[in-house]
Amino acid sequence: MAVMRTNRKRRKLARIAQCSRCRSESIGKPVPGDGSPDARLVFVGEAPGRNEAAVGHAFVGRSGKLLCQSIRCLGPKRKIFLTNALKYLPRSGVPKPAAIQHGGIHLRQQLQALQPSLVVLLGKTAARAVFGREIPVLKKHGSFCRKADDPARYFITIHPSAAMRFPAIRRVFFGDLELLVKSLHRNAVRTAANCQPLAGCTER
Ligand code: URA
Repeated sequence: MAVMRTNRKRRKLARIAQCSRCRSESIGKPVPGDGSPDARLVFVGEAPGRNEAAVGHAFVGRSGKLLCQSIRCLGPKRKIFLTNALKYLPRSGVPKPAAIQHGGIHLRQQLQALQPSLVVLLGKTAARAVFGREIPVLKKHGSFCRKADDPARYFITIHPSAAMRFPAIRRVFFGDLELLVKSLHRNAVRTAANCQPLAGCTER
């Protein structure tokens, strides 16, 4: 039964890579995301870069290395899934609002298939794809949020590429990851019901 469920999830996830609009607007291969279909923890970045579009896998470049090293501190056995707001490297370079909106549709499909308990939003594009509006990430980072009718918790933090470029931001990013580790350890007593709605994201 569990295998059947996992296979169904795999099929749903595979369909996302077939999107003709994504294909028509992309440079390189589509990068729908990677990881365990049974992941309870999902990381969402912005969009694949050139390295990712060359191989069709998420977070294989420099910022991905920082992310993957950081994720190791969450526990080596943890099943995770890595994805992006956009499933392709946009020709425009910086993702445009319409592309983020379109990516948000795929992201929701993925999250519906995966049913994670916690989704880590890496930067403003990921946050926008989920919440449908601009989120001031530097103000809200380190907060847990939730959405109406969605059992998952969302954790807002900084994109690892910003953490790589600026030492002060890197400290913030690592500080957020510490909060995340603590929260995962407390998870047994914590539920989506007791975290703050987005407007009141004050928990640090
Ligand atoms: N940056 C992202 O946001 N995603 C990737 O997959 C790689 C770099």
